[in-house]
Formats: sequence, structure tokens, C-alpha cells
Amino acid sequence: MNPDRAVNRTVDTIFAPSSGAGRAAIAVVRLTGPECKTVCIRICGDVPPPRRASLRRIRNPDTSVVIDQALVLWLPGPSTFSGEDMLELHLHGGPAVVAAVLRTLTSQPGLRPAEAGEFSRRALDNGRMSLVDLEGLSDLIAAETEGQRLQALRQSSGELDRVFEGWRARALGLLGHLEAHIDFVDEEGVPDEVAAEVRRRAGELARDITGYLGDGRGGERLREGFTIVLAGPPNVGKSSLMNRIAKRDVAIVANRPGTTRDVLEVHLDLNGYPVILIDTAGIRDAETDEVEAEGMRRARDRMARADLTLWVESPDVALPPLPPFDSPVIRLANKADLFGHTVDDTVIPVSARTGEGLDRLLEVMGAWVSDSLSRALQEPLVTRERHRHALQACIAALARAEQGMVPELIGEDLRAACLSLGRVVGRIDVEDVLGAIFAEFCIGK
Ligand code: GDP
Repeated sequence: MNPDRAVNRTVDTIFAPSSGAGRAAIAVVRLTGPECKTVCIRICGDVPPPRRASLRRIRNPDTSVVIDQALVLWLPGPSTFSGEDMLELHLHGGPAVVAAVLRTLTSQPGLRPAEAGEFSRRALDNGRMSLVDLEGLSDLIAAETEGQRLQALRQSSGELDRVFEGWRARALGLLGHLEAHIDFVDEEGVPDEVAAEVRRRAGELARDITGYLGDGRGGERLREGFTIVLAGPPNVGKSSLMNRIAKRDVAIVANRPGTTRDVLEVHLDLNGYPVILIDTAGIRDAETDEVEAEGMRRARDRMARADLTLWVESPDVALPPLPPFDSPVIRLANKADLFGHTVDDTVIPVSARTGEGLDRLLEVMGAWVSDSLSRALQEPLVTRERHRHALQACIAALARAEQGMVPELIGEDLRAACLSLGRVVGRIDVEDVLGAIFAEFCIGK
């Protein structure tokens, strides 16, 4: 990190509109940093009582012209979101009001507009929230379904962080235990039973984390959406089904093979779970041109990454040999309005035209989705590849520690494990290791 930037980051007072763009009854502009109090006096005339919404006239301090009448919240640090002094201006939400206030703030000494994520960055730097908490907060703002909201709320309020911190405390404890003996015991070195105990507990921790990661990626899927791919030969009615399910026009429907050339997707809320329904180009034995070939390549690629495939057939279209599926498959026979019901009860008869069979289909899809994602609502699971990646690195380091023969090298592996966990939560600090050592070791000895 550039040290100059780090200094500026904490010195500057920054501001940004915190409510959405466009016309609204109220718009919130918030500020954080050491100049908040001064600015408040300059534009409001005084500093209202802390944490109490107070009505003030907002003026341009250079011209004394009133810009708006607003509710002002003075939030002295460090018990604030950013850990610094903060100020919130609840303005009338017209774009011209907000623009005038932002212009005025820009002209104040020591103030500048915030960069993306800068409020959160300060919350992290000032130890108010961990990286994982902040990711949860950003997911909460992006949450589109009830399931996503619940998961994000849990993560932003520290539940996932506590899981990671619990492991980090265990790894730091092991490192502290080992280093206490490496550093402070005389020439005899680390007693065998200490090294053996550390190795055993490192293995235990590795297995706990491994078990935790065997969650079928429920947390990541709940955050990103459960992917269901509609696949099958051209002209069986995949696009029509997609439209019917999504209840809006998302794909071109035409009575000519090979119309859906690209991959189209709609986002659905299925019983509170996010689902990404993807329509793919028809899979056929032969392709007519390069565009169709590319469409089929993408279709196969999406099928390979799907959480569930809806394989669509219809009796008026010749069925190609079924491709190998990487995900579970539900087989559908479309155009039931024309051809009636199939006898094979592994296939669900549906009609995109009349809507028949769709309730059952949605029920079956819903059961798959909730089976895969419900665990993420019961306990905090990793929600990002970043977490999984760091935890895998941590597991690898712990596994090396478990096998280690030389105490110093076991220490290195434990340090690597702590580092990976520290990276996840955004706290990497040698002070932690020292703290763990001294917590275990009586220094007066
Ligand atoms: P896709 O190539 O698999 O995406 O198929 P389309 O959705 O483009 O549909 C191909 C043709 O089948 C169109 O003419 C649709 O109107 C027709 N079609 C689709 N679903 C049904 C259905 O349930 N019943 C009937 N009778 N026709 C359908």
C-alpha cells in the first residue's frame, strides 16, 4: 500500500450521497472524517446534540444563501460506522438540492468526494467491521430475495466472521503454544509431547474446516443464484417455457430451428431463493453455421456449470442422443396440449402454450433449490470464492503442520494458516501472534 495514500485516507474528510440516485422525498448525504464538526458549524450554524435528528437550515457558508432545510445527524466517533466523526444530512431529495449541497461541500477546505467503498474501508481500517462483515453488508444492499437478505444480514452482523475468527484463534493458539516453547525453553528444544499435541490439534482444525467447506457451496449459490439451464434440441419449446416461467418476454420465440443463438437468462425468486434460469441454443447433431455452432458450444458450457438442468423434449422433434450431464437433470416433455401425457413418469409433461404442468415443474424445481440452499439459512456458510480459496490454503498449511517433523517448520505452516484466515477477515497482524504467545506464557518466569 502506498503510505501517502494511507495517510490521506485517514486525514481527508469525505462525503457522498448515500441514498439512491433520482428524485425522491429524502436524500441522505453523509460525511466522515475529522472536519465533520467544523463543516457542520459552517453549513448549519452550530453542532446539534449528538445522535439526535435536528432540523437545520443548510447554507452555503461563503454566500450565506440557504440551500435547503434538512434533518442533521451529528455522530461523533469512534462509535460510528466508520469509527470517525460522521455527519448525515437528510435533505429534500430533489437532484438540484443534492447537487447544490455536494457543490458546497466540495468547496470546503479538507473535504473531497468519497471514492467507491471508502466509507467501508475506513470501517475496516478502524476495526469497526471485518472484511467479511463488510462483504455481508454489501450483499445486504444487493439482496433481491428473502433468502439472500437473511444470509447477508447474518453475515453483516458478524456470524460468519465469528466462525472464521474462531478458527483463527485456534490456529493462533497453537502457534503461540509452539513458539512459547521454541523461544523460551532452554537448549533442550520443544518437548516431543508439545510438538505432537500441536500437530494433532492442527490436523483436527484442518478437518473441521474441511467439513465446513463440504456444504455443496450452499452459501455461494444463495448469494449468486442457483443456476437452472433449459437445454434440449431446437424447437421443443425451451424459449416458450422460459417466457412462460418468467412471465415476461425474454427470448425470441420463432417456429424455426436454431433461433435462440445466445444464452439468455432471467432471474427468478423461487420461494425466497434466487434462481437464474438460463435458456440455451438448441442442441442438435448438426449445426448449420458458425453462429449456431458457437451457440451450441455455449449451451454445453452452461450445462456443464449448471446446478440443475431442465432437459426439454417434445414428441414432434427428433431426440438426439442425450448428452452427458454434469448436473442433476429433470426431463420435461413439452407441448402436452398437442401430444397428451407421456407414460414415462420420470418425465414431467408440460405445455408452454397452456401452462399445464408448470405448477408441478415449479414445485419440483423449488424442492431442488431449497434442498441445496436451505442449509445456508440455518448456519453461516462461506458466501464467496475468496473465502473458499483462503480456507483451502489454510487447510493445506494445517495439513503440512500435522505432518511436520521440525518444530520451526510446523510454526511456519501454522503462521501460513493464520495468515490465510487473517486474509479472509481482513486482519493480518503480527501483534495477534505476540498476543497469543504472551497470553499463554507468563513473562515473569
Ligand atoms: P426452442 O427452440 O426449444 O426454444 O423452441 P421455441 O420456444 O422457439 O418453440 C418452438 C415452436 O414450438 C414455436 O412455434 C412455439 O410456438 C411452439 N411451442 C412451444 N411450446 C409449445 C407448447 O407447449 N405447445 C404447442 N402447441 N406449441 C409450442
